Amino acid sequence: MGFSSLGLQASLVKSLAEQGYQQPTPVQQAAIPVILKGQDIMAGAQTGTGKTAAFALPILQLLTREKEKQQSGKSEAVIPSPGALVLTPTRELAQQVHASFEKYGAHLPFFSRLAYGGVSINAQVEGFNAGVDILVATPGRLLDHLAKGSLTLEQLKFLVFDEADRMLDMGFIDDIKRILKQLPEQRQTMLFSATFDAATVGLSKKLLNQPEMIQV
Ligand code: AMP
Repeated sequence: MGFSSLGLQASLVKSLAEQGYQQPTPVQQAAIPVILKGQDIMAGAQTGTGKTAAFALPILQLLTREKEKQQSGKSEAVIPSPGALVLTPTRELAQQVHASFEKYGAHLPFFSRLAYGGVSINAQVEGFNAGVDILVATPGRLLDHLAKGSLTLEQLKFLVFDEADRMLDMGFIDDIKRILKQLPEQRQTMLFSATFDAATVGLSKKLLNQPEMIQV
């Protein structure tokens, strides 16, 4: 089964061919059609399974549709507000996810931006002001930006928790709860986790609306 039979548009299939990807991995085969349909998912997938592309590709496609809708109406928000947010436990994972969005979205007009701590906040703000469609963030620095008013999450349509179990192990639950208070109710949420312990299942119940379960 090729990538276009999963429902992916030509601009994405082209990027994948440029990357030398020939076949979707099992998590991509399972997750991409479900996300494209607009459903929430809870996916059990380890690093190395191709999980990043499993959410990045359908999000890029769905953002393309959102952009087309917006161009026939609504004015630009004054405060930058991404359409998609990926939360990660570490800056290293954030950097990898951001690099994946840049790679797969090479033929699409979207800006992916990073927000993690330990580096200048102002450089990140300048990036948001130049355009932010996709934000890949660690929870603490995202909260700093929200408190400062450099971003809002009002326009958010797609939310991903990447390595959710690790995020909880690292003690991010209070930060996550604060972020959740600022999210629109109407959104599509995707949770990826290597394991499903009680804490991760508890979080998924708060976050997900009738999710499809994917285990590879
Ligand atoms: P991930 O599990 O998302 O960290 O991805 C692991 C590695 O697999 C990354 O280097 C990806 O670039 C690569 N990858 C993802 N999907 C595919 C695919 N369908 N074919 C070949 N390589 C892939």
